[in-house]
Amino acid sequence: MDKILRTLMCDGQVSLAVIETTELVQKAVEIHKTSPAACNILGGLLTCGAYIASSLKSTRGSVSLTVKAKEGDGAVSVSADADLHVRGYADGACSHTLKGGTLTVVREDGFSARPFVGTCEILSDDISDILETYFGQSEQIPTAAAIEVEFDEDGKCVWAGGVVMQLLPDASEMSIWEATDIFDQYEERDHIAGRHILYTDAQVILEDVFRPYVSGEVTTLFPEYKCNCSEEKIRGVLASVGKAELLKICEELGEVKVHCHYCNKDYVYERKRIEEIF
Ligand SMILES: [Zn+2]
Repeated sequence: MDKILRTLMCDGQVSLAVIETTELVQKAVEIHKTSPAACNILGGLLTCGAYIASSLKSTRGSVSLTVKAKEGDGAVSVSADADLHVRGYADGACSHTLKGGTLTVVREDGFSARPFVGTCEILSDDISDILETYFGQSEQIPTAAAIEVEFDEDGKCVWAGGVVMQLLPDASEMSIWEATDIFDQYEERDHIAGRHILYTDAQVILEDVFRPYVSGEVTTLFPEYKCNCSEEKIRGVLASVGKAELLKICEELGEVKVHCHYCNKDYVYERKRIEEIF
């Protein structure tokens, strides 16, 4: 089962999240059936989305992330809410390099009227580097991330997840030094483990690598791939378009079709059902 384990380390001066999103990424792969390159970026961004959602303070909070590749090669969008319902889709093949593209994060904290919007340029193709750059530049939070998404020969996701560490305000030099050392230890072990696929469980990573340094309670959260579209929401959207416009489309095309990119589902309305809405 997918999970995010959150706790504090180094005398409570560093936050640690150990993330496992394998099932969630596999579900996205099954729904979207996109190219391996796009699956890889989508899997990484879904994992980042789950991570950011796990830090939302309000139950009404939400976050969306969009990666735009350079030169119209495609985009990947992910959105997640405070219940850790995560969804996403790839638009285009994303077959070329992400470097030179952009990452935009829109976060509704659930308290203020205006969302926080942060954008950064993508300097590397690695999703961990992208997340680190985003937090460093847009939120001024020093971050170390090691996120990986691995697929087998048949394109099945065998591991998605990793580790994200962030410095809390006023972290001491000593804690920064210690956290860096612990992070390097994880990367070293993960590098060896990766080849044998030993680490496919967040709990095992936490116990194996981080337990001696944990200085707080461990909170376990359960992210899952879930779209929040519904018949009711689609009807609301259609109502805002207006009856005359919808009937015109119906006359031309025989029906009105609304496609949800996130779950790849079509909502189809013929004339009779449109009249029912109004
Ligand atoms: Zn949907």
